[in-house]
Amino acid sequence: MVAEVYQPAVRPTQKAPPRGMMALMPELPEVEAVRRRLEPAMRGARIEHVLLRRKDLRRPFPRAFASRLEGRRIRSVDRRGKYLLLTLDSGDTVLMHLGMTGSFRIDRHSKRRRSTPEATADRHDHVVFTLSNGVTVTFNDPRRFGVMDLLGDGLVASHQAFAAMGPEPLGTSFGAAALAQALTGRRTSLKVALLDQRAVAGLGNIYASEALHRAGLSPLRRSSTLATATGRPTPRVVRLAAAVKSVLREAIARKENPYRAGRFRVYEREGEPCRTSGCRGTIRRITQAGRSTFYCPVCQR
Ligand SMILES: [Zn+2]
Repeated sequence: MVAEVYQPAVRPTQKAPPRGMMALMPELPEVEAVRRRLEPAMRGARIEHVLLRRKDLRRPFPRAFASRLEGRRIRSVDRRGKYLLLTLDSGDTVLMHLGMTGSFRIDRHSKRRRSTPEATADRHDHVVFTLSNGVTVTFNDPRRFGVMDLLGDGLVASHQAFAAMGPEPLGTSFGAAALAQALTGRRTSLKVALLDQRAVAGLGNIYASEALHRAGLSPLRRSSTLATATGRPTPRVVRLAAAVKSVLREAIARKENPYRAGRFRVYEREGEPCRTSGCRGTIRRITQAGRSTFYCPVCQR
């Protein structure tokens, strides 16, 4: 049996302090890296068996969860914001969220033995999918803030998690024009506006700070200054939209290959020198809307 463990590179321990825990929630790059590893293991396979070791995670599993999955083929493994979506040939969609500590383990078995031996199960292995291709996918979640739900045909777009969700930052619908529209007339600070999932889906505290630093924009700047009065893009918003895409793409690449771990530009670097070439600033930490923001007061204006 070959076991591959896929989990965010940074994981809180059971005793992590509250402030640190918030900082370590998986963001879009972590979830996308998980999707890219689940896809080749799950897509096209039939779900032979679903083992639920508990009645609930953050919420109870939906009724008949296992029986509605068993016998169905997985058509696609997608991501929307920080949610993973398995579309089945029945039309149902399995909605999965890693919460704070959720991870998937992929085991590829030899043809003769296809069930996970109970002896090797971890006490936090809560869901085990046994697939027709000899793969088992196990969801492990010590803190159980993860979510698994089942949506009927056509109900994904209207689900409360997605109805108000903005464009995918790495998709073609997100760019300077869309971001300018979302920021027009907004009096809130730029950092707070970027965390609003209606402006852009899946951007969290870490990569909002990182993108603002790359774009050379202050997190304290009023959002409306990035668009014209009629909502047209300014050069600043062009820079910011490009920075959002590039910090996320680079982070996904790092998650896929953790040995190439690169450090953040500003995140959790309070008091350290700015990495912008030619800048002599020092990274500062402030609190905005209850969350830490890291930025360079010299090169971010
Ligand atoms: Zn700087």
